[in-house]
Amino acid sequence: MGHVDAGKTKLLDCIRGTNVQEGEAGGITQQIGATYLPAENIRDRTKGLKADAKLNVRGLLVIDTPGHESFTNLRSRGSGLCDIAVLVVDIMHGLEPQTMESLDLLKMRNTDFIVALNKVDRLYGWKTHGDTRIVKESINEKQSKDVRNEFTRSLTQIITQFKEQGINTELYYDNKERGETYNIVPTISAISDLLVRDWNNGEGIPDLLLLLVQWAQKTMVKRLTYSEEVQCTVLEVKVVEGHGTTIDVVLVNGVHHEGDQIVVCGMQGPVATMIRALLTLHPMRELPVKGTYLHHKEIKAAQGIKIAAQGLEHTIAGMSIYIVRPHDNVEEIKEAAMKDVKSVMSRIAKSGEGVYVQASTLGSLEALLEFLNTPAINIPVSAISIGPVHRKDVMKASAMLEKRKEYRTILAFDVKVTPKARELADELGVKIFTADIIYHLFDQFKAHIDNLKEEKKREAAEEAVFPCLLKIMSNCVFNKKDPIVLGVHVIDGIAKVRVFINIGWIALIENKPVDCAKKGQKVAIKIIGSNSEEQQKMFGRHFEIEDQLVSKISRRSVDALEENYVDDLSVEERDLLSKLKKLFKIW
Ligand code: GDP
Repeated sequence: MGHVDAGKTKLLDCIRGTNVQEGEAGGITQQIGATYLPAENIRDRTKGLKADAKLNVRGLLVIDTPGHESFTNLRSRGSGLCDIAVLVVDIMHGLEPQTMESLDLLKMRNTDFIVALNKVDRLYGWKTHGDTRIVKESINEKQSKDVRNEFTRSLTQIITQFKEQGINTELYYDNKERGETYNIVPTISAISDLLVRDWNNGEGIPDLLLLLVQWAQKTMVKRLTYSEEVQCTVLEVKVVEGHGTTIDVVLVNGVHHEGDQIVVCGMQGPVATMIRALLTLHPMRELPVKGTYLHHKEIKAAQGIKIAAQGLEHTIAGMSIYIVRPHDNVEEIKEAAMKDVKSVMSRIAKSGEGVYVQASTLGSLEALLEFLNTPAINIPVSAISIGPVHRKDVMKASAMLEKRKEYRTILAFDVKVTPKARELADELGVKIFTADIIYHLFDQFKAHIDNLKEEKKREAAEEAVFPCLLKIMSNCVFNKKDPIVLGVHVIDGIAKVRVFINIGWIALIENKPVDCAKKGQKVAIKIIGSNSEEQQKMFGRHFEIEDQLVSKISRRSVDALEENYVDDLSVEERDLLSKLKKLFKIW
C-alpha cells in the first residue's frame, strides 16, 4: 500500500525477483492476483542477514493489490484477506495523502504493517553496493557523512509525521520494542541512474522479507493451521475469452471444488451460482500457451485462483465468496453476502428517476453516493455500478430516463470510459462526466443542468409572455399604424421585445442597450401586427390614448413562462401575472 509513485509496483517486482538480472529467483510462482514465495526462496534471499531463522512457515503469499480496482474494498471491508501489509513511503516525500488513507484503513482493520522507506538512493550521494542488505553498517559505514546526515534528517521527519498520526515507528535494526513500534526498512526498488542500474537488485528487500517471515512465525503459526472453513475474497471481475465473466479470487482458507454452489455479492443483488471451472495460471504462460489456464477439480488454500461461473457479471470486487452446503439456508447466506452493500443500495431512488453513478470501488461509490445525498446537493440516483463505463451502462442510463433529460447522465468517478461507450453515449445523447475528485463531478453536473435550463428557456422564449401594463403618454403617438409607434410609461411588469400585447407584437423598444423596459421607465415602442390574418390595429379606430396596453397571455404562454422563467420574475411581476390571469380567465 502507499501513495501513487511511491514505488509499490517496483517493490513488488523486487519481491518477486523479476528484476534480478540472473533471472527469476527459484521456486517463486506467479498466481492469479498473487505471488507465492516458498520458504526456500526466502531462506536463500535472507542468508546474508545471518538470521537463518528456522522457517516454520511454508512461505508467503504476496497479494498484488496496488493495481487492483478492488483495493479500497479489500482494505475497508472485513474480508480478512491480509495478515500484514507493507506500507511504501517515498523518503523524499514523506507521508502523502494516500499514505494517510492507507494508514487509516490499517488502523481501522487493526492490521499489522511494515514501512518500506523507499527510494533511499535518491539521497544525494548515495552509493549503491552489490550487497542487497540494508543493515546498520550499510548506512553508518558505507555512506558518506552527508548522506548519513540527510538520511537521519529525512527519517526523523517521517517518524515525526507517523507520530502525528498516533503511530510509533523506528528503523528496524534500532527497534527494541517490536510489536509496539512499527518497523521501518529503507529500500531501493528501482534505480533512476542508468549507469548503476545493473547493481540494483532490491536493497532492503532481504531485510523486508526476513521481517515478514519473523513476524509470521511469531504471530501466525498457531493461526496458520489449515481449516475447512472457506475464506475467499474476490479481487477482480474480468471477462475472459472462452470463459465469459470470471472472478479472480484469493482463497485464504479452505477448499474450492468444481461444481461447488457459491453465493457472491452482486451489484444487482446476491448471485447464487455454481463453480464451472477452477483455473490457475499455466506455469509456461510466457510460451505459446499464453492465455490458457490449468483446470482443477479442487484447489486448497492459500492460492490466487480464477473462477468461471454463470451470472458473475455484476460481482463486486473486494467481497467474500460464500459456499452453500447441502444443509445450508441459501436465503440466509444471500443476506450475509449483501450485508456490506446494503447501505449503498438504500441510496437508490425509489422513483427510478435519477442519474447513473459509477465508481471504481464500493468504497468510492459509497463516498460519492453519500455526497450526492447531502441536502445541499440532493441529486437523485437511479442506478449504480462499479468499474469502467461500458456500452451496457450507457444503454441503461439512456433507457431508464426517457422523460428526464437532465438525468440521462453518467457520473463516472475515478473510472475509465471505454471508447465504444463514449461513441454510444454520443449517439444516444447520454452525458458522461468523469472526474477523480467528487466536487469536480458535481460542478460538471451542475453546469450541465444550468445549460439545459438555458436551452429550455431559449426554446420557451417564443411562447413565454412576460406580464406588462403600459400607459400611452399624451402627445406620444408617433405613428398610428403599420407600424404603430408610441411613447409609453411602464406602469407595472416588464415590457420586452417579442411580447404579445393587446394591440400587436412589441417589435422594438427604444431603450438601448437592452431590449426591455422596467416598471417606471418611459420608452418609445414599435408595434407590428400580431399575424397576417388578424386585422392590423390602428390608433383612433381600435384603441385610444387612454386605453391601457397589457400583455396578452394564454394558458400556453403562462405555462412556458412559469416553467422556465419563474426565477426571473420579481414579486411584483408575479402579482401582475396573477391579475392578468384573472383578466384573461386563465385558471
Ligand atoms: P507505484 O505507483 O507506487 O506502483 O510506483 P512505481 O513502482 O510505478 O514507481 C514509480 C516511479 O518511481 C517509477 O518511475 C520508478 O522507476 C521509480 N522508483 C520506484 N522505486 C524507486 C527507488 O527505489 N529509487 C528510485 N530512484 N526510483 C524508484
